[in-house]
Amino acid sequence: MYKKLIVDSGKRMLNSGLTVETWGNISARDPGNSLIYLTPSGMAYDTICEDDIVTANIDGTIVDGKRRPTVEFELHLGIYRARPEINAVVHTHPLYSQIFGVLHESIPALIDEAAQVLGGEVRCARYALPGTRELAEACVEALGKSACACLLANHGAVSIGGDMNAAFRTAKVLEMTAQIYAQARAIGKPCLLEQSQIDYMYDFARHRYGQ
Ligand SMILES: [Zn+2]
Repeated sequence: MYKKLIVDSGKRMLNSGLTVETWGNISARDPGNSLIYLTPSGMAYDTICEDDIVTANIDGTIVDGKRRPTVEFELHLGIYRARPEINAVVHTHPLYSQIFGVLHESIPALIDEAAQVLGGEVRCARYALPGTRELAEACVEALGKSACACLLANHGAVSIGGDMNAAFRTAKVLEMTAQIYAQARAIGKPCLLEQSQIDYMYDFARHRYGQ
């Protein structure tokens, strides 16, 4: 079930336009047995099958799979170790989010969707080379105890959630927010929301929205 989730999520990421070719990577944790399922390194998302998925323990031991795991193996594991409530990690290379990653700037929660889903600004992690333990540490640090997304300097974005749908929702909202912020800054000075307004909307989305 989790292997299929990763295969399907790879296609979902490709079709979302948040990543091109083989960049980006995805993982999920089964809260039932704590095993982590990851995309393989450098394989086309539209051809990956369940046999290509790599399964690992939280300590990094590969327990199943014939492929080499994603190069960002340490980043995924680091997040699961630091955040027990997180069961899905989606790392993408989206166009507008990366503009702020190149600037080493945070993206403020300046629209409804961002306030409700992101709950505050999305920070940019300090620069580290791809695939390194330093990048994993920088990412975990930028996410802190409660953030659901961060930027990787000169590299991409990381979105996390209690399940895969939540991680994808965050990834999409982050990229939309980045696009609006970049274009607003290009033609004027964006008006930001107060943190109290963001808090109100974040709480509203959790407790009073929907049926
Ligand atoms: Zn990457």
